[in-house]
Amino acid sequence: MPHLHILRPEFEAGFTMATSPLKIGIVGCAGRMGRMLISEVLATSGTALAGGSEQPGPHIGTDLGVLVGAKPLGLNVLDNPEGMFSAADVVIDFTRPEATLGHAKLAAATKTALIVGTTGMGDDVHRALSEAAQKVAVVSAPNFSLGVNVLLGLAEKAAAILGPEYDIDILEMHHRHKVDAPSGTALGLGQAVARGRQVELDQVARKSREGITGARPTGEIGFATLRGGDVVGDHTVIFAADGERIEIGHKASSRVIFARGAVRAALWTRDRRPGLYAMRDVLDL
Ligand code: NAD
Repeated sequence: MPHLHILRPEFEAGFTMATSPLKIGIVGCAGRMGRMLISEVLATSGTALAGGSEQPGPHIGTDLGVLVGAKPLGLNVLDNPEGMFSAADVVIDFTRPEATLGHAKLAAATKTALIVGTTGMGDDVHRALSEAAQKVAVVSAPNFSLGVNVLLGLAEKAAAILGPEYDIDILEMHHRHKVDAPSGTALGLGQAVARGRQVELDQVARKSREGITGARPTGEIGFATLRGGDVVGDHTVIFAADGERIEIGHKASSRVIFARGAVRAALWTRDRRPGLYAMRDVLDL
């Protein structure tokens, strides 16, 4: 006999609420990622743009639709994010560490979930994010692409299998405008291989090499940074031993992968308990 499923009115009401669009605000909305994020929110069903903010500059007051080459939306770039945090269910932040520090405090004060893609953050910003995560869901990731998150898992596993006689170096290349190095993703890969080896990255990392460096110590995890052109982001993890070398890598050819991942993370925060989450939680890896 088929099982009859009858929706009670309160469940129907709940269903309606659960499918109301998720209101997403974008801080740093005129940046390279900010614009990509506006377009991605507009293209994603189940979401609505709550607004966009920027630091003082020429974009303040510009219509968010016009900013991304679309139809006017009747929402202008704000110079103060406070109202937007109050109006939004979740705010996405791909800006600068000093800006993210303030946004973490606003997220906690307004009980707004926060998605953070900013890289190069110091301990003060990480602390502020942890504090905000006691009040709201915070997803912070050095890289929001599905491919890189798969690479993180593969690198950790390879490091665990191969052991310290395989020298590990992480090579990354980004566009000429990038302001921090090594990239957040390279450092994330460093954390992953360190986890695989059950060591602390800080104790074995060599972030750059120059001059008479001496022979490579066993167990060191090295980084090398290239900058130039419009490279969106290339990362390679190299495991080198006597007689063989393994290289696993990822090449991003469009920033849309980061925006897509960040909007997916934003949708994931709906009704999520407060906490500090990573992309592997969002992707259930
Ligand atoms: P960008 O310089 O093009 O954009 C940054 C924007 O933030 C600018 O428009 C700037 O005006 C704005 N901003 C700075 N301070 C602000 C403030 N106080 N309030 C509001 N806006 C402010 O840089 P981008 O290429 O878009 O990258 C932004 C950040 O995102 C960088 O840290 C970058 O490394 C990181 N990033 C992360 C990922 C990821 O997947 N996690 C992917 C790409 C870029």
